Amino acid sequence: MYIGRFAPSPTGPMHFGSLITAVASYLDAKHQHGIWKVRIEDLDQPRTVKGSDKTILDTLHQHGFHWDDEVVYQSHRLDIYQSFLSKLNEKKITYYCECSRKEIADSAITGIDGMIYPGTCRNKILDSNHHALRVKVEDLFIEFEDKIQGGIKQNILKEFGDFILKRSDGIYAYQLAVVIDDALQNINTIIRGSDLIDSSSRQIYLQKILSLPKVTYGHVPVATLNQKKLSKENQSMPINISNVKDNLIACLKFLGQDYEVVRKENTLTNFWATAIQLWDISLVPKIKTIEI
Ligand SMILES: [Zn+2]
Repeated sequence: MYIGRFAPSPTGPMHFGSLITAVASYLDAKHQHGIWKVRIEDLDQPRTVKGSDKTILDTLHQHGFHWDDEVVYQSHRLDIYQSFLSKLNEKKITYYCECSRKEIADSAITGIDGMIYPGTCRNKILDSNHHALRVKVEDLFIEFEDKIQGGIKQNILKEFGDFILKRSDGIYAYQLAVVIDDALQNINTIIRGSDLIDSSSRQIYLQKILSLPKVTYGHVPVATLNQKKLSKENQSMPINISNVKDNLIACLKFLGQDYEVVRKENTLTNFWATAIQLWDISLVPKIKTIEI
């Protein structure tokens, strides 16, 4: 059974970029008669905007999405993340890092996704909880077949370095929480934006060292405006609720789908039924960004 999900961060109202991801993950799951869950990724409390979780869920509801199971909130699951982290601590493959951002910037080289941590604190004995906690990674390649973007192969040590599992401010890292949640929610297929494609190999690595099941990934292109990703932070294109059908058509068009037949449907229910039937993931553009 296909089990997919949509996992927005409640940092503001829903925007066009996240609606695209919601549509793609929903259609791919429903086309295969699967389950689709919603998870609110609210671990980064300083960035969380109060009430925006409700706004996002309302927006999904108004667009005719139906999610299965109760919505999961990451902020309610801190004990779970800590219990998995403790397993890695027991294996002695984690260590505290006292480097400041500046110290890392001065000594590290830039990788595919930020600085490659040079391992400065690997052999230091630090025990303060005020430091970031990193995982000691092996020099190995992670390879996977993305459902949209094709084959990807990355060296965890050389391209990312020892990465953070818990930040110095005590917040569990995105990479850790996502991997645990997906496993515990039995998610087996993840369709999300290509801005997260370079997180996948670190997540596969964590699945391996935590003995969690593998999942299938598919990364849809990210919408950009003036070469910048649409985001809640830059207030790009919030969703206009009065144009639900136009919003959904714009998503189908962006995702390379045949939207002409779907456009003729009069009700939202029929719209979704037809869109689900016609969904073809092979038509999604195999590129990382699309300027809109
Ligand atoms: Zn360090």
